[in-house]
Amino acid sequence: MSATLDYWPLVLEHLHKTLKESAYKAWFSRVAFVKTTNSGRKIVLLVPNSFSKKYIEQKHKPTLLESIKKYYPQVIHIDLEVDKEAESADFQKNRVLSQELPIKKQTSPKKNKREKQAATFATMAAAETVGEEVGSYLPKKNINNLNPRYTFDNFVVTANNEFAYNVAKAVVDEPGKAYNPVFLHGGVGLGKTHLIQAIGQKLLEKNPSFNIKYTPMETFVSQFMIAVRKGQMPYFKNYYRSIDLLLIDDVQFIAGKESTQNEFFHTFNSLSQESKQIIFTSDRHPGELNGVADRLISRFNSGVTVDISQPDLEARIAILNDKIERANIQLTDFQIQQIAERVDTNIRELEGILNKICAKIKFNPGQEFGNKELAEILNARTASSVPAYSTKTVPGFSQKLPGPSSVAADKYLYAVCRHFGLDRDDLLGVSRQKDISLARQVLMYLYKRELDLSYPAIGRLFGNRDHTTVMHAAKKITAMLESDTKMQEQVQIICQTVG
Ligand code: ADP
Ligand code: MG
Repeated sequence: MSATLDYWPLVLEHLHKTLKESAYKAWFSRVAFVKTTNSGRKIVLLVPNSFSKKYIEQKHKPTLLESIKKYYPQVIHIDLEVDKEAESADFQKNRVLSQELPIKKQTSPKKNKREKQAATFATMAAAETVGEEVGSYLPKKNINNLNPRYTFDNFVVTANNEFAYNVAKAVVDEPGKAYNPVFLHGGVGLGKTHLIQAIGQKLLEKNPSFNIKYTPMETFVSQFMIAVRKGQMPYFKNYYRSIDLLLIDDVQFIAGKESTQNEFFHTFNSLSQESKQIIFTSDRHPGELNGVADRLISRFNSGVTVDISQPDLEARIAILNDKIERANIQLTDFQIQQIAERVDTNIRELEGILNKICAKIKFNPGQEFGNKELAEILNARTASSVPAYSTKTVPGFSQKLPGPSSVAADKYLYAVCRHFGLDRDDLLGVSRQKDISLARQVLMYLYKRELDLSYPAIGRLFGNRDHTTVMHAAKKITAMLESDTKMQEQVQIICQTVG
C-alpha cells in the first residue's frame, strides 16, 4: 500500500469544507484512493458506480482537482475507476442509505431501535458484499472496551475530586437523566479517565446489556477518517448512534478537526435526543477550547461541568495510604509524608513512584526498605526521562525475540496504527513522511520500553533497519515525553488501548 494514501483523508476533508454537505455526502463520501502513477502526475480513484463517475466528471472535476492539488501538488490528471463489485451492490446499498435517514426523525424509541438495528445490519451486509472489512477499526459492538483497573472501589475520594465523584455517582443512579452531558475537566494524571471508566463499569454491572463505548477523542478522529476513506460512513454513524453510554476521553484533541467536529456534533445530537448518557473529559474547561466550533462548545456546556483540581498534601497522603494498603507493602508515616511532599504533580506520578518502591521491595526480599532507599528513588525521579505512567510489565518477553507475528508485538503495532490512522504496511514501510515516521518511532520506543526488546531485534521487525536508527527513535520519543504533553497523552492512550 502506498504511503501517499495518507493524504487522501485530508483531500476529503478539504472537499468537505469546499462543497455543500449534501454534495459532499452524495458524491465523495465513498470515493477511495487507489494510487498515484506517472511519477505522481496522475491520481487513480475508485468511485462506487458509473453514474458517480459521470457526475463528478461533469460537475465537480475542477473542485476535486483543486483539493487534490493541495496535497498532491504534481497531479494534473484524475482517473476515476468504477468499482464494479460496488456498482452491482449499489442498488442494495442505496436502499440502506435511504433507510438510514428516518433514524434521525424518530417517533417512538422502540421502533427506532429496531429500525436502527435493521439499518446497521443492512449496511454491514452491503459493505460486506463489496468485500470491505466492515468496521474493523472499531471495537466490537458487543464487547465493552473498559479497563477493569478503573473502578469506584479503588477511586479515593478527596476534597479536590469530591464533586466530580458525586456527579459520577448520580449518573450511575440515573443515566441520561440527572446530568447529561457531563463535562469533566482537569490536568493530566488526576483521575479523569479512571472516574469515567468507573461509571462505565458500574453501569455495565447494573445493565449487562448496555452498549457502552469508551473512546479517546483521538481514536474517534482516526476511526472517522478511516470510515471516510473506506466509504463506510453509514456503518460508522450507526455504530456510534446506537450506543447507550458514550465516554469520550480528552475531547481537546478534536480542536482544528472540522469535519470530525461536524460528524461528532450529529452523533451528539442523535444520542442526546434519545437521552443516552454522554460523558466527556478534557484537559481544560469548554470555554478554553480553541479551534472547536461554538455549536459544539455549547453542547459541551449544556449539562454539568465539573473539574478535578490538583490534590493537596492531605489528598496525596490519603491516596498513597490506600494504594500502599492495596499493594500490601509497609512504609513508615515519615516515608509516606516524604513521598507526598516531594511528588506533588499528579496521581499518575505518585503511582509511578509507588511502583518503583514495590519493585524494589519485592525484588530484594529480606532487605529493609529504609529512608536511604526511598531517597534514591525520589532523587532519581527528577533525572528520569520517562514519565512513570505505564504500570504494565510484560514478564518474560525480554528473553524472547518475537517475530512480527508475536502477539504482544502485534498488539502494539495495531494500537499505534489505529491511533495514528495508518496502515500496517505504511508503518513498517520506508516512507519518510513526517507523521508516518513519527508513528514508527513511537512504536519502536514502545517495543523498547514495554517489551524490552533489544535494539537490533526491533530493527529486524522493521525490515532490518540498523539498530542505531532504533536507538535514535527511542531517544527522540523519550526526549519528547519530557515536555510534550501531547506526546505523553498519545503514548498513554496507546498503552491503554493495548490493555
Ligand atoms: P487523567 O485521565 O486525568 O489523566 P487517570 O485517570 O489516567 O488521569 O489517572 C492517572 C492514574 O492515577 C491512574 O492509574 C488512576 O488509577 C490513578 N488515580 C487518579 N485519581 C485517583 C484517585 N482519586 N484514586 C485512586 N487512583 C487514582
Ligand atoms: Mg486520561
